[in-house]
Amino acid sequence: MKAVCWQGANKVGVDTVPDPKIINPRDAVIKITSTAICGSDLHLYDGFIPTMEQGDILGHEFMGEVVEVGSEVKRIKVGDRVVNPFPIACGHCFFCKQSLTSLCDNTNPNAFMAEAIMGHSPSGIFGYSHMLGGYAGGQAEYARVPHADVGLCKIPNGLTDEQVLFLSDIFPTGYMAAENCDIRPGHIVAIWGCGPVAQFAIRSAFLLGAERVIAIDRVPERLQMAKDGGAEVLDFEQVDVGEALKEMTGGRGPDAVMDAVGMEAHGMGLEGLYDKAKQAVRLETDRPPALRQAILACRKGGTVSVPGVYGGFVDKIPMGAFMNKALTMKTGQTHVHRYFTPLLEHIQNGDIDPSFVITHRLPLEQAPDGYEIFKHKKDHCIKVVLKPGQ
Ligand code: NAD
Ligand code: ZN
Repeated sequence: MKAVCWQGANKVGVDTVPDPKIINPRDAVIKITSTAICGSDLHLYDGFIPTMEQGDILGHEFMGEVVEVGSEVKRIKVGDRVVNPFPIACGHCFFCKQSLTSLCDNTNPNAFMAEAIMGHSPSGIFGYSHMLGGYAGGQAEYARVPHADVGLCKIPNGLTDEQVLFLSDIFPTGYMAAENCDIRPGHIVAIWGCGPVAQFAIRSAFLLGAERVIAIDRVPERLQMAKDGGAEVLDFEQVDVGEALKEMTGGRGPDAVMDAVGMEAHGMGLEGLYDKAKQAVRLETDRPPALRQAILACRKGGTVSVPGVYGGFVDKIPMGAFMNKALTMKTGQTHVHRYFTPLLEHIQNGDIDPSFVITHRLPLEQAPDGYEIFKHKKDHCIKVVLKPGQ
């Protein structure tokens, strides 16, 4: 089959690789119909994650049709149309039983690597390097899905791929990030970043009852899309974000702040380096990174929600402000499984049509262009969907 393979920093190729096979009785194999490129893939593309190997298959946002199931798979059948959650969960460990599926204890055989680098390991994740299990990803014609009965979400008839694909990651991620803001009536939420994750976070914050959302970025079409979603916007290159937020909140600061940027360096003219000796990600920038700015802007007693991805050690967190303002921080890889039912309902009710973020639809073969376009936000790009077999 054809698959998008990592070939080193800033290089992916579409290679011919062996088809995936059932290797465990709880596996399924799916034929992929749609798969997306995520901001998280850019951390791999940037070369931030030290445990990628040449030839690793990328991709964790994918859906398709089940073509084969292992002997112990009961709920999922050949022919089912399914969306796959990006974290792999066993369904019965201490964490899965509490719906903390991205923290599953049983799906990362290489947890020792993640522990050495990050201090702890989340679950295994599709297409996300050897320290997160070394699982082949879904930017491919086919993928093997372990624990198929636990993970795969069956899609009812009448919904298009583009309406449901983002249940795999960015819709639940935006939603969990908004839930983590502990929104109450009257609350103002400020969101750093207007990428795909933030676009869902903005709309989720309103679904959860936020009165106002203020979104921060510098890319005009991303700011416009945030505005279309009901947010007030700030261009961080035009205004002093901290001062502007004070002014917009009567001097108090937003009730909750969200970092939907993460260790962003791509396309920003910033240098982001993974320092192997120190096992740390070092961002060299003359601008305050989003997280630092968010902590400083949050009102006293407020909440800091961090869906943005970090690895290794990141310094210059203003702990003094964080402690003395009595802030709460909530973060994590998204527990995608627990959001399938409620978010599918929102889609079916017409509360939201997630396809609004898609700006680029490309055949799988054009994945190298897709990565470059998404990384550098060329051609008004917000989200790229790859279509295998087209
Ligand atoms: P993206 O790279 O497309 O978007 C990031 C946006 O942040 C860009 O529009 C960029 O212009 C903007 N930005 C950069 N620096 C900024 C700053 N200082 N202030 C304000 N805006 C700034 O990525 P995305 O797909 O939207 O993902 C966003 C983050 O969420 C990434 O770190 C990604 O890894 C992470 N993510 C986390 C999870 C999870 O489970 N927690 C899941 C998916 C993605
Ligand atoms: Zn993703």
